[in-house]
Amino acid sequence: MSESIGSSGPGMKLHTKILLGLALGAAAGVLTNLTVGPEHPAIAAINDYVAYPVGQIFLRMLFMVVMPLVFASIALGVAGLGDIRKVGRVGGKAVGYFMVTTVMAATLGLIVVNTIRPWERVSPETREELMARFSKDASGRVEAAATSEFGVQTLVNIVPRNPIQAAANTDMLGVIFFGLVFGAALTLIAPERAKPMVDVLEALNDVVVQIIHFAMILAPFGVFALIFGVASRFGFDLLVAIAAFVITVLLALLLHVGVTLSFIIRFLIGLSPLTFLSRIKAALITAFSTSSSSATLPTALDVVESQLGVPRRIAGFVLPIGSTMCMNGTAIFEGITVIFVAEIFNVDLSLSQMVIVMIMSVITAIGAAGVPGGSIPLLVGIMTMFGVPGEGIAIVLGVDRILDMSRTTVNVCGDISAATWVAKSEGAWVPADVPEAG
Ligand code: ASP
Repeated sequence: MSESIGSSGPGMKLHTKILLGLALGAAAGVLTNLTVGPEHPAIAAINDYVAYPVGQIFLRMLFMVVMPLVFASIALGVAGLGDIRKVGRVGGKAVGYFMVTTVMAATLGLIVVNTIRPWERVSPETREELMARFSKDASGRVEAAATSEFGVQTLVNIVPRNPIQAAANTDMLGVIFFGLVFGAALTLIAPERAKPMVDVLEALNDVVVQIIHFAMILAPFGVFALIFGVASRFGFDLLVAIAAFVITVLLALLLHVGVTLSFIIRFLIGLSPLTFLSRIKAALITAFSTSSSSATLPTALDVVESQLGVPRRIAGFVLPIGSTMCMNGTAIFEGITVIFVAEIFNVDLSLSQMVIVMIMSVITAIGAAGVPGGSIPLLVGIMTMFGVPGEGIAIVLGVDRILDMSRTTVNVCGDISAATWVAKSEGAWVPADVPEAG
């Protein structure tokens, strides 16, 4: 009765319907914005009473399963790998991949921003206007930044005091840690005692996957509603005001997917980048419309298995960790934004300071939560490190949603490429495992 993502049911394929939802939602949203205007009461009413609830129900259906999914996937992944050394090797490869691609992404961002120099196209009046318009929102972000510092406590916090509470607080790292320890313990107890627990976890996993299929039936409508909500309310005047900045970020994101990741997909994974991207499009569209790597995790797990044929025991282990640790797009965005805002405030960074921006972009991309705007507080933190006023974030806040949608899509693309590459390097997957297009 349920439709797997990309499977051909009667009539149109699910991912075609989702794509249609995206295109129609964007078209309808932009059209109403530009004709009726974002402030019109009828648009507000449609957003409040139709688009908002439909979009939120879809999002919540996905979020609802994230915590059990992460726990079951990681525990089963570790238990399935069998011995701790193998877990260490697979985990090490995954983290290595996350780090290398994120460093490449951040470096690319810095090269692109220093080439385009978008700050030269923003007038002092625009700067003042944006600062005035978003100063209230910005000061909230600056406060949030003050509480999100890195330190010894960050490390301690990875170990949850109470795993149920960690799940309730959507503390992804805490749940991942508990899943890792749980899975490791399962491999060390007597097999006849471990078996019933593994069976329960497998059943839990199957149930969760089934729930994801329910959620994905809603996806075309949910995606339509989320995109309509953003587009109909978006300040397109802002987009024009700092178009050079937006174009710089989008160009760098595009180059990362079109060059860096495509190179990896073609030569290290052995697939055509176009095939890869088209197979995972349900996850990419979900990332684009939700702006959240965490909310996209259920869909990503589904497509990586059903559309690419990557075994669940590897994907189920690599993807949940990747969704919180591997954020290529976020690193690009952070590096570019720090330089852009710094220059607007006449803070000229030296080459060595740029290198520190790159390193900090990588660290904070790893630390950012996979939720909409998850990187903003950390970004404010980097800005203040270089004497750039945190409130300067106001300049980019108005266009952040569009950039967030785009960078999250790149983040998820990176996560899925990581899972596929790790599976290949472990000899658990070959390109011929990709199922026939259905
Ligand atoms: N929204 C991003 C994600 O979930 C995080 C961020 O860059 O704000 O991947």
